[in-house]
Amino acid sequence: MIRMLLVEDEDRLIATLTKGLRTADIDVASARTGRDGLRMALEDGFDIMVLDIGLPDQEGFTVLRKLRAAGSDLPVIILTARSSAEDTVRGLERGADDYMPKPFSFDELVARIRLRARVADEVAATDSRTLTVGRCELDPVERTLVCDGVEIPLSPREFQLAQLLMSRPGEVIARAEALEEVWGGAAKDNVLDVYIRYLRAHLGPDAIETVRGVGYRFVG
Ligand code: CA
Repeated sequence: MIRMLLVEDEDRLIATLTKGLRTADIDVASARTGRDGLRMALEDGFDIMVLDIGLPDQEGFTVLRKLRAAGSDLPVIILTARSSAEDTVRGLERGADDYMPKPFSFDELVARIRLRARVADEVAATDSRTLTVGRCELDPVERTLVCDGVEIPLSPREFQLAQLLMSRPGEVIARAEALEEVWGGAAKDNVLDVYIRYLRAHLGPDAIETVRGVGYRFVG
């Protein structure tokens, strides 16, 4: 049974999803405002959050930012009425794991919930070795990355990508592999480039080499 927190203000959608998802073995608790949603998310016990962007008291983006600022790595799928690339990038920048443009198909939502909730489980179970590459040290248990003695603040996705690249330093990680490992193969191709840009902004432009048409290599 997956425990899902739905933050959404449309009563009909709440009713449909709560009933429908239960038949898919997903237990839904719901909040109608960003404020309640954030409080419930931080109380723990959920495997995934599905978050509407248009909420009565604040934007879903704000809820997401506060959730991540509070240190939660609860997987989040955002629901957006607009399928614009801008909204998607904005959501991903603030730590969303996935997004669904409204209107969406019920089956697709179920598939994504299962995928994201599972991805989070696997991440928790991955290798706990500390990885040291050049001037950087990544601790998967503490979930910290320290370079030249300074801790680098990373979002959960950035951390996963850094962990993948640093697990095989000097080796080219193929684009398809990175997309599969970090996003479960469910993200658009260019999301990877966006995240490589974020990591370079943190680690310096030369830390990660682009191997054109193939993938990326961590050189530290
Ligand atoms: Ca809404």
